[in-house]
Amino acid sequence: MKNIIIVGSGAGGAVAAKELQGSFHVTVLEAGGEFRPFSLPVSAFEKLRKTGLLFDEREIQLLFPQMRVQKTGDQMVMVSGSCLGGTTTLSAGNAVRADSGLQELGIDLEEEFQELYREIPITYDHRNHWSDASKRLYEICEEMDLDPKPIPKLGDYGQCTHCGRCLLGCRYGVKWDSRRFLKDAQEKGARAVSGCKVLKVVIEDGLVKGIQARKGLHAAFYPADLVLLAAGGFSTPVILQQSGINCESSLFVDPVLCVAAHCKGSLQNKELSMPFAVQKEHYILSPYFDYLSFFFNKEWRNPASDTLSLMIKLADSCAGSVDGRRIHKSLTGLDKERLREGVGICRKILDRYGIREDEIFLGTINAGHPGGMLPLTREQAESFHDPRLPKNLYVADASLFPGSLGNPPILTIMAMAKRISKIIMERFI
Ligand SMILES: Cc1cc2nc3c(=O)[nH]c(=O)nc-3n(C[C@H](O)[C@H](O)[C@H](O)COP(=O)(O)OP(=O)(O)OC[C@H]3O[C@@H](n4cnc5c(N)ncnc54)[C@H](O)[C@@H]3O)c2cc1C
Ligand code: SF4
Repeated sequence: MKNIIIVGSGAGGAVAAKELQGSFHVTVLEAGGEFRPFSLPVSAFEKLRKTGLLFDEREIQLLFPQMRVQKTGDQMVMVSGSCLGGTTTLSAGNAVRADSGLQELGIDLEEEFQELYREIPITYDHRNHWSDASKRLYEICEEMDLDPKPIPKLGDYGQCTHCGRCLLGCRYGVKWDSRRFLKDAQEKGARAVSGCKVLKVVIEDGLVKGIQARKGLHAAFYPADLVLLAAGGFSTPVILQQSGINCESSLFVDPVLCVAAHCKGSLQNKELSMPFAVQKEHYILSPYFDYLSFFFNKEWRNPASDTLSLMIKLADSCAGSVDGRRIHKSLTGLDKERLREGVGICRKILDRYGIREDEIFLGTINAGHPGGMLPLTREQAESFHDPRLPKNLYVADASLFPGSLGNPPILTIMAMAKRISKIIMERFI
């Protein structure tokens, strides 16, 4: 049996491991370690904020190393997960099908989405337990003809405690993350190596021979018949570039800007994250307690329980890049214009909620849906393989998306990873 190395254990990597183990010997190389939910109570942070010691979002990594934070030159905060389960462990649990860009290329993932709907519990149950604030915000969006819709969630929300800490890791096993697929793969014999940072793919005579990595302080070489990169939209392009394969400067990140307000007793910090969303053409709006702004943005001075916030998640322009050291990403004029439009709508929603204009403040722009630097084309709609890559090297993450989704990508990445796994099985068994 051939061996395949999968880099990354998030949405794309865990699906591929589950699908391919048995037909191949699968080894998953993961830079991070075990995931542990953030354990400090938010009240401890409220005290810490007052000391002035919290001034840079990157400090969060000292207390919560699974959350990786990088900053762009424009001070945009880029977030990803570095642990078994990848960024899915930090997600809000949103299960959104967002494949219209792929459909435009002639790609039909219907079968793969149906498989996922059978394999993962996806539910709207949370709706019966919304807080008064969420209910009122939903009503206001209806009154404004914004057509809000509850967001389907990954997991079984019957046991949800509404602790509001979805983005810090669910301590109750309610929210589904990709560790469950990784475990399935391991039970079938796949090997997962954590704490192993992949540096490059070793290519000789036009074919992949293996992976050069760092495990702890040691260099390590992992021979492979095939390699699949699913290290996420920030890391896969770096690995490719370090392997001598150029990517496009077409990075998107789905920037998030929150419009928040002082609102006594709104208790949004005790609500699950993003209960519903309004879909606009270039962005979505959703109730969202923004922990990074709350911890680090000086404007966010109110107690968590008295802060009410709406996010704008933008489908940004495909303009930006990463190299081994930095993320190069700025908002374009059009991106800023669309964010301003979103801010205007959020202000109107908060106004109807009864909040005074002078009680409203903005959050720090942050982002966690990177991709787009190896975009699929119409010609690759069948193969999912860029001709720049050796024929035994595949990518299965959002790097392949032809454009920003402005929507949660996990489900679509997983559907795509399923299709790529099928292609690999057809071609290499
Ligand atoms: C706070 C937050 C909330 C989110 N909420 C949602 C949501 O509700 N719904 C949704 O659909 N999406 C959500 N997203 C986005 C979603 O989690 C990611 O887009 C998705 O997990 C990406 O999947 P992936 O497999 O490409 O990468 P990831 O899940 O990021 O996994 C990549 C893995 O590769 C590992 N890795 C990276 N570099 C290397 C290397 N050099 N060597 C070895 N391993 C490496 C990383 O440690 C990581 O474990 C959220 C993102 C954030 C930041
Ligand atoms: S709100 Fe529910 S899903 Fe989110 S972390 Fe708490 S228990 Fe888990």
